[in-house]
Amino acid sequence: MGLIASSSRHIETPVLIVGGGPVGLALAVELGWRGIQCVLVEQTDGSIVTPKMNEVNVRTMEFCRRWGVADRVMHCPFPADFPMDVVFVTTLGGYELARMERPAKMHHAPGPLSPMDLEVCSQLWFDPILRERARSFPCVKLLYRCRLESFNEREGGVAAEVTHLDGGGRQTIEARYLAGCDGAGSAIRRALDIRLCGTDVLSRPVHMFFRVPDLFGQLGIRRGTFFLAIDRNGLWANIRIIDPAQGLWRLFVLDTPPDFDPDHVDCDMYLRRALGRTLDVEWIGHSVWTRRGVVAERYSRGPVHLLGDAVHQLSPTGALGMNTGIGDAVDLGWKLAAVMQGWGGDALLRSYDAERRPVGERNVRQATDFFRGHREFGHGIESIEDAGDEGDAVRKRAGELLLRDIARMFRTSGVQLGYRYERSPICVADGTPEPADDPETYAPSARPGSRAPHAQLADGRSTLDLFGRGFTLLRIGPDAPDPSALAQAASRREVPLQVVALSEPQVSNLYARPLVLVRPDGHVAWRGEALPADTQSLIDRVRGAMP
Ligand SMILES: Cc1cc2nc3c(=O)[nH]c(=O)nc-3n(C[C@H](O)[C@H](O)[C@H](O)COP(=O)(O)OP(=O)(O)OC[C@H]3O[C@@H](n4cnc5c(N)ncnc54)[C@H](O)[C@@H]3O)c2cc1C
Repeated sequence: MGLIASSSRHIETPVLIVGGGPVGLALAVELGWRGIQCVLVEQTDGSIVTPKMNEVNVRTMEFCRRWGVADRVMHCPFPADFPMDVVFVTTLGGYELARMERPAKMHHAPGPLSPMDLEVCSQLWFDPILRERARSFPCVKLLYRCRLESFNEREGGVAAEVTHLDGGGRQTIEARYLAGCDGAGSAIRRALDIRLCGTDVLSRPVHMFFRVPDLFGQLGIRRGTFFLAIDRNGLWANIRIIDPAQGLWRLFVLDTPPDFDPDHVDCDMYLRRALGRTLDVEWIGHSVWTRRGVVAERYSRGPVHLLGDAVHQLSPTGALGMNTGIGDAVDLGWKLAAVMQGWGGDALLRSYDAERRPVGERNVRQATDFFRGHREFGHGIESIEDAGDEGDAVRKRAGELLLRDIARMFRTSGVQLGYRYERSPICVADGTPEPADDPETYAPSARPGSRAPHAQLADGRSTLDLFGRGFTLLRIGPDAPDPSALAQAASRREVPLQVVALSEPQVSNLYARPLVLVRPDGHVAWRGEALPADTQSLIDRVRGAMP
């Protein structure tokens, strides 16, 4: 299945991606970057009126760096000098309880853990950046206003029926693999009869989008990006500025009562409660949805693989939803490419579920835990809005607890960078004990299954810049053994592998072994003091060719 063969009623492609949300687009970029032909169908025209995602986390930014779009994300229209502070308030115009300072983009500097930083970049801008990058690859074809109607598994792949919604009629797309990135309601998942496991309803939030010029000036308050509202009833809402230049905001009410009527949302009432006063704003839209904490019982069936919200739905607390889905796209992307290029073994695509489902479960657990913290906050704060000494004391204590407990969801370097493919069938364990999985603290490790850690190289690059196209065998330090037997074993199977010699002491310290084999997605496959006697088995294991 090389080139896309196309007639007016019939397309053939190695990979059909359904869904042009951020996860489908990320898969198209990952495949395009690897030179793999694919077609993406998206039923909408791609425009976004009410954006969900705003925070692109550190790991996703590392992928953006490899894809060549990190600069565009960093320089998106969110102003470089705007403080990203998280602020706890009684109302936006009321008491400030605590502030977690997060520097503006212009003050971001690479830290010791990554060459990248978390970026605030609304889906309004992020999806188009991915879309444009996907389009830049001649092997990627994006079809908007094109809906998947049905699909059938057949010899050698799937046959999918699509409708071109702007009068183009029906068409069949034959693909060797189908990637279902069709979101929470995934018709593909339902057609495959794959169940979601977990908590089906955590709450029923409503979010409302409005425009208002200079809200900070009008309220006379200090700027920030994300405000959490806590009144005598507890933590009930957050208010986020999405696009300061356009005065675009989102008010997000965490839950609604059982008798809530979604057809009659009193946006003005909620806004009054959030601001502590009445204000005229331009309402853009609102939606009522269900907060869930669920993961699919499996991510793949035959030639169909599911990614993103189609297989995991997380509470937005912690900003992990899209970021988890983009991790799926990167994991599946290199494996599809390896199979398509002929060096990936039969077990390689099976490892997608084995590696990514536990990460989905872990991140859902974490996001749900953050949300439960929101729910439980608020005992004994009846006087939090009262003037006077008693109110002051309650506010002071609440501020301390909010910073300690609720602000944890903004201190997640462990969640973002510390996920690893423990017990992966295509990684070779080295017998070292599994370190703690601490959400707040990322402890760099080159243990097999982990993200290969970042270290700055003498030429200014990051170790991460070495990884991507194929496998990379790091030969670390002056006494590292000769790795040519492994390189030859790779070559016999046509596995792309480059050997890179490094001498920086910080790399030796972080990687802790003189030989480290890193996969195309930047995770460690194997490490050792010396090559194993059977280098061919090692290569066959990591390329998914061992049963
Ligand atoms: C309020 C809120 C805030 C959030 N903030 C963050 C955040 O800061 N960071 C973060 O990482 N995550 C965040 N999330 C989660 C994030 O928005 C989702 O996880 C992410 O959008 C999922 O991407 P996706 O591509 O899997 O699915 P979707 O974005 O739902 O995209 C699925 C696409 O598939 C298309 N589609 C469906 N069926 C078909 C069909 N039959 N044919 C063709 N096309 C089809 C749909 O039109 C849609 O465009 C937030 C979520 C919410 C609700």
